[in-house]
Amino acid sequence: MSRTPDDIDPALALAASGSSLTIDLGAVAENYRRIAKEAGAAQTAACVKADAYGLGMEKVAPVLAEAGCADFFVAEPLEGVQLRALLPQARIYVLDGFFPGAGPLYADHKLVPVLATRAQIEDWLAFTQSAGKLPAGLHLDTGINRLGLEKDEAGWLLANEAARRALDVDLVMSHLACAEEPESEMNKRQLERFAAFRAAFPKARASLCNTAGVFLGPDYHFDLVRPGIGLYGGNPMHEHRESPFKPVVYASGRILQVRHLEAGETVGYGATFTAPGPMRIATIAVGYGDGFFRRVGDQKPQAEVVICGRRVPLAGRVSMDLITADVSALPKDLPKVGDMAEILGARVSIDHLATAAGTIGYEVLTRLGNRYHRTYKPAVSGHPAPHGAAAPAPLAQQSSGDET
Ligand SMILES: *Cc1c(COP(=O)(O)O)cnc(C)c1O
Repeated sequence: MSRTPDDIDPALALAASGSSLTIDLGAVAENYRRIAKEAGAAQTAACVKADAYGLGMEKVAPVLAEAGCADFFVAEPLEGVQLRALLPQARIYVLDGFFPGAGPLYADHKLVPVLATRAQIEDWLAFTQSAGKLPAGLHLDTGINRLGLEKDEAGWLLANEAARRALDVDLVMSHLACAEEPESEMNKRQLERFAAFRAAFPKARASLCNTAGVFLGPDYHFDLVRPGIGLYGGNPMHEHRESPFKPVVYASGRILQVRHLEAGETVGYGATFTAPGPMRIATIAVGYGDGFFRRVGDQKPQAEVVICGRRVPLAGRVSMDLITADVSALPKDLPKVGDMAEILGARVSIDHLATAAGTIGYEVLTRLGNRYHRTYKPAVSGHPAPHGAAAPAPLAQQSSGDET
């Protein structure tokens, strides 16, 4: 989905944008293959809910299908309808389950609900009684206590021969609460509960793992793994371990002004930053209106962006359209107005920004928003992108500076 009006010439649109977002579809495909390799004999699905974590399902899903992905997970049925238009052949699972009243939509677009409550099972059975038998998944809650059959609901189903016969169970799944903590006792407990339940549905495929779960080892893989964040370049281990994935998102903001401050002058709303001495501040056309977290401006140490090849700290609060960075450490004539500051990319990971904002990479991605000028770097089908391929240069050429 293009966020810039279609009738504007692309070069002009780029020249008219304060910020730029490049999504590397080749990296998405590479990350998919990385997970598929880790998953061994299990099949690898893809979670493309929330517009593929904000990156654009329309662009991302076909690339994943091309990389070999046959099974997709969305959260809501309307996301499934959107996906069906892109991928006529894919298996599409709806994680929120069955919304009564929306039955025809599931049937017409071949959406497979992952039934998560007894009420959903009953509503689905009522619907399929008239519409005809259709495949469905079952979601057992094994300890996250969020969504999925509760213990007594699972017991009801296991004891209810008629309901089980009426269902065409195609997938049995559960979701791990602590997959990014390999040593957590929760993982083993959830694994045991899941294994016991899935044994009652030997013909259905079984699925337990999100991205982090895949790295818990083969005991956890079952028939199908369903990663999301790793495909999009997030580190599933957060800060615990180095990420096995390639960055996908490159965001940058145009430097609008370079200001010269004297000691004692302050920066931004609330005058929260005071210049300790003479310094230079670069004002960048990105703000919380672009999903940049406002609270980052009040954190110590301050989050960093990369300007002229060097990491520099922010100074002062984040506003809706602007952030300000301390560029005093750069050579005197740098940066230049019009240079681009790297907000996210190979040197500033989504996990770096997430940590500074007290959140996770998932939220960084889903908040990116519509204002960035979006470019999709196409995946070259059949040819993995060369390792360490550089980020596509966004707007004007960056001035050269010291690499740190
Ligand atoms: C979003 C989601 C996933 C994918 O999780 P990641 O941590 O992004 O890999 C898997 N399973 C369920 C049930 C989900 O909601």
